[in-house]
Amino acid sequence: MSSETLFDKILSGEIQSDAVFDDDVAYAFRDINPQAPVHVLVIPKKKLESFSDVRDSDETFVGAFMKRVAIVAEKLGLEKDGYRVVFNTGAHAQQSVQYLHAHIIGGRQLTWPPG
Ligand code: 5GP
Repeated sequence: MSSETLFDKILSGEIQSDAVFDDDVAYAFRDINPQAPVHVLVIPKKKLESFSDVRDSDETFVGAFMKRVAIVAEKLGLEKDGYRVVFNTGAHAQQSVQYLHAHIIGGRQLTWPPG
């Protein structure tokens, strides 16, 4: 059993967050340290620690989760100009919370490559 993370506590309401979307599949809230004018985190209601934790039996759920990421981006008004979706996974990507989460980043011109 994985240990409780910050995002478990956000999901349970123990830690407050600024919600932008909530349904039975996903919860989305504003990042506390935004890297762009729009920076929202989307987490699945079924806990997965990272992309490395996705199993064959999760495929349908992960598809539904990805659809929610797109819905949230649209709801945030990012569809026209574009946006970036980032899943930091593991140490090299500096994943700091061991609960799978999509960063939706937009609202300005982004550069490539990332650091
Ligand atoms: P990671 O580095 O794991 O990909 O992303 C974790 C994200 O969680 C970071 O962008 C960080 O700013 C955000 N974060 C950390 N603590 C909090 C918090 O208490 N509330 C919110 N809303 N975001 C947080």
